[in-house]
Parts: sequence; structure tokens; C-alpha cells
Amino acid sequence: MQAAVVKFIAMPLPVTIQDVRVVLTQPGKSRLAIVKVSTSEPGLYGLGCATFTQRIFAVATAIERHLKPFLLGRDVDRIEEIWSMSMVHGYWRNGPVLNNAISGVDQALGDIKGKRAGMSVCDLLGGKSREAAHVYVHANAECKEEVAENVQAYMARGFRYIRVQMGGYGGKGSPMVKPKKAPDGAYFDPRDYCRRMLDMIAYVREQVGEAVELLHDVHERLVPIHAVEFAKDVEQFKLFFLEDALAPEDIHWFRMIRGQCATPLAMGELFNNPHEWQMLIQERLIDFIRMHISQMGGITPARNVAIFADMYGIRTAWHGPSDTSPVGHAANLQLDLWLPNFGVQEWYQPSELDYAIFPGLPVVEDGYLYPNDEPGLGIDIDEALAAKYPPRDLVEDWTQTRLPDGSPARP
Ligand code: MG
Repeated sequence: MQAAVVKFIAMPLPVTIQDVRVVLTQPGKSRLAIVKVSTSEPGLYGLGCATFTQRIFAVATAIERHLKPFLLGRDVDRIEEIWSMSMVHGYWRNGPVLNNAISGVDQALGDIKGKRAGMSVCDLLGGKSREAAHVYVHANAECKEEVAENVQAYMARGFRYIRVQMGGYGGKGSPMVKPKKAPDGAYFDPRDYCRRMLDMIAYVREQVGEAVELLHDVHERLVPIHAVEFAKDVEQFKLFFLEDALAPEDIHWFRMIRGQCATPLAMGELFNNPHEWQMLIQERLIDFIRMHISQMGGITPARNVAIFADMYGIRTAWHGPSDTSPVGHAANLQLDLWLPNFGVQEWYQPSELDYAIFPGLPVVEDGYLYPNDEPGLGIDIDEALAAKYPPRDLVEDWTQTRLPDGSPARP
């Protein structure tokens, strides 16, 4: 009888996290935070978006002083475990600073896994449902005639989904009514806003007809009962969706809107906590989830909520203005290509400098956002060029609007 031969099979060592760095840059108006995770495999790294532009330095500190020591040496493949442990490891959770920090790492690990597999993140998620994503762009002007002209110019360039705004959020055209001694600045009159926006949307619809999808963002500025009234009044103009009709604090009022009109509703860019979207989805009170992927913690939670929403017939419209970094836009697109319930993608039209700093940043053609089919997120960063545009210190003023009595309005 032959003696048993014990075979030793050499198991490959896991690829581990060797460094976590934050790249801060400001090539345009928004300050951006990109996380770069380097690994034990020479030359292998991943990028993720951690852009909470208004509090960018707090996010950078959270990553470099708190997450990095916890992450060094961990197996890059264990994305799920790392996400869950990162969320509870600081004990206090679900805030915008830490969610963004965790997102930077989560997206970078997805990028690394895709590069290791030679597959896009979309392929890792399940593969393409579509070749490209419909995008919507912003037509904003100071008067309704100019808004309509901008819409027509976008239509001529092939865009089919266009958000119409007049005078910025809340409208800067409101008559300046304020008490003596109240500071100067942007003032917002809710009733005046409702009247002027309805007039603008009616005018634009009349000018451009039904062949284009129009969207409008209330930016949560109305008190709930005015939001109910506005959603009813705007129903006749058949918006693709009305966004942020209510503030996150008032989401139970969506039942009132839902009960009274069929205006499609989009909500979610300010959400931090799963409790904010669970009820809206389960009760079918909205039509589009609008979360900002880095704000909710990255691709891992976005994947989960998107599939949850799909079970209730609710589609996605991930937040995507210029304060989502190009890396964040690349992550949005990977989700958009895969999701069975993708709706539309917000798009900000990057500058040439954005394309130079972020090689691989997706491109739009005829209103569709196309991927480049590179592995991972398909995007890179030229750090030397990014360093020439460091983030500037600034005090945001668009978030400092006031009501006609001088008290703060919601931005
Ligand atoms: Mg919005």
C-alpha cells in the first residue's frame, strides 16, 4: 500500500491596501476630493469620489486620520466587509462627512477589483442593460424667454431631457422685501416663486412642445402645503419629474402630494440615512431616487437601494452636478449602464481641463453618456495637473438665502 502523499498547494497571498491618500483639487467652481487607494501589487490602485464640496477638508481629515489607519493591510477584495466595518467602526454613523469618506474607499476598491478582473464595475455588478445612459442638462436663465431659448439650443444638440430653472434656486427675481436692519443678500419669496415658475414652465412648454422631457428642481424651498399646491398646479405641463418638492425633514408630506396629483416626483440628494429612503420606496411615494452616491456611502449602498427601489417600480436619477467629481460621474455611469431600473442621469458638461485632469471621463453624444469600457471605473487622474489647481478657501453664498422676514431659507 502506497503511503499517503500530503500535497501543499501554495495559496496566493491576498492583495492588500498599502496606502490611502486624498487628492484635493478645484479645476472649476467645485472643490473635489478623490481617494486613491494603493495596493501591495505594484502599479495597482483605485480611485473613488469623496466629494462633499462644502466640507471638503473635514472629509480629507476623516480619511487620512481615521479611515486610513483602520484600512492599511486589509484584503482589497473584501469590499462588503470593509464597507460595513467602516460604517460602524467610528460608532457614530450615517453623517455626510463619514459617508463621503467611506464612499471614496468603497469606489476605489470597486475600481481595483475591476482592474484585477479585467472587467468594468458595470460587469462586476451584472453587466450592461444598455449601451449608454440618457442624461439631463440644466437650462437656467434670468427670464422665461431665455430659458426657452436655452432649451431649444440643447434640443438642437441632441439633448432630450432638460431641467428648467429661472434665476437660480428659488429665483433671484423675487422683489426684495425685508425688514429694516436685515442683511443684504439673496431673498426668497415662496409664493412669488410658485407663480413665476408656473408661468415659466407654461411658457417653455408652449414654445418647445411635448417632444422634450422637462424637469424642475424646487430645491426643498417650499413649506409643505405650498409644495402640495405647486405639484398639483404643475401637473398639466407633464414634467419628467419635479425634484425635491419637499425637504428631507418633511418627507411624510409626500403622501399628501401623491394623493392629489400624478406629477412624477424625484427625491434624495440630501439623504444620509437608509431610514430616509425606505419609507418613500415602500409606500411608492416617489418615482425616482436621486441620491448622491458619495453622500450615501458609495457604490455598495447605491446598489442595494437601487435594487430595493426596482422591486417597487421606482427608477434611479443619481445626483450629478459639478459637485460630483469626474470619478463620481464615472461611478454613476457604471451603475446607470447596469441597473434594470435606470431612469436618467444628471450631467454637468465638464470643461477641457476636467478631461485633461481626469483621463477617461465619460463623454456625451446626442444626449447619451457613453462609457469607455476600460476595467474598473475607467477613469484616472493626472495628479501633477490636479495639484496646479488646489482647493480654494471660500464661504458659500448660494446656501445663505433668506425669507422675506430676514430669517434663513433652506438652500
Ligand atoms: Mg437637486
